[in-house]
Amino acid sequence: MPDTPFSKGDKVPTDGEYVCVPCGYHKVYKSGDEFTECISCFSGTPQGEHEEFVEGQEMWEKVQPPIENQT
Ligand SMILES: [Zn+2]
Repeated sequence: MPDTPFSKGDKVPTDGEYVCVPCGYHKVYKSGDEFTECISCFSGTPQGEHEEFVEGQEMWEKVQPPIENQT
């Protein structure tokens, strides 16, 4: 099952680091939290710098950690 982008207000499915798709800002969310607007570019808010970005559109994507051997 591929990871899909999340929108502001969606529930966070798993703990981890997520990236703001429009600007690349990283933020850590915990499972059960709700995704918020990005504090870097304010996507999902009236102050957003991305005019094409509207409320309800996908914004956050899960950051996949690099695969490495655990010792
Ligand atoms: Zn952003």
